[in-house]
Amino acid sequence: MTVFVNFDGVTLTEGTDDATTDTSSIADGTFAPYAGTVPAEDVFAAFEAIFAPYPVCATDVRPDEGPYAMVVVTADTSPYGPGVGELAGIDCGDGNPKSVALVFENGSVDTAAGIAARIAHAFAHTLGLEHVDEPSDVLNVSSPGTSFVDACSDLVGPQDPVCGAQHEAFCPPGQQNGHAELSALGG
Ligand SMILES: [Zn+2]
Repeated sequence: MTVFVNFDGVTLTEGTDDATTDTSSIADGTFAPYAGTVPAEDVFAAFEAIFAPYPVCATDVRPDEGPYAMVVVTADTSPYGPGVGELAGIDCGDGNPKSVALVFENGSVDTAAGIAARIAHAFAHTLGLEHVDEPSDVLNVSSPGTSFVDACSDLVGPQDPVCGAQHEAFCPPGQQNGHAELSALGG
């Protein structure tokens, strides 16, 4: 499991997600490079720290070959409006290892840990994780925490859990343990 955190800008074309060809089902067009005041290397280091406990290889340089997922971190505003900070499809069981997600970073978050949490949040959706009500969890929707909590937390969202079978390997229906699910990746 490899994730490429792309701070360099990208032009996405529409289609089934394929990070290796910059193809995305959720956004298309050109997105500007990250331009925040927090250095990209500091943000990336904080992202690596969040995923250090899990079998995930993170890089901020595009790999020579796939498969890999990609999170684009752009200075642009979301095509769905400034209130949308992240775009990512919920990919149950990581059925597609070449998912593409976006984080729109316009300066509203000004710490490396805070920006990294948003990148981790978007990437976690591409691994089938959904929103939870636990305030300190990365999957908290209103203000992502900086770790995946090792506990069953209530799922929140407008719809029934999309990836129920994935969550119910570790928790009762309607709950999710993101730490446990990430620890089991590829296992
Ligand atoms: Zn989300």
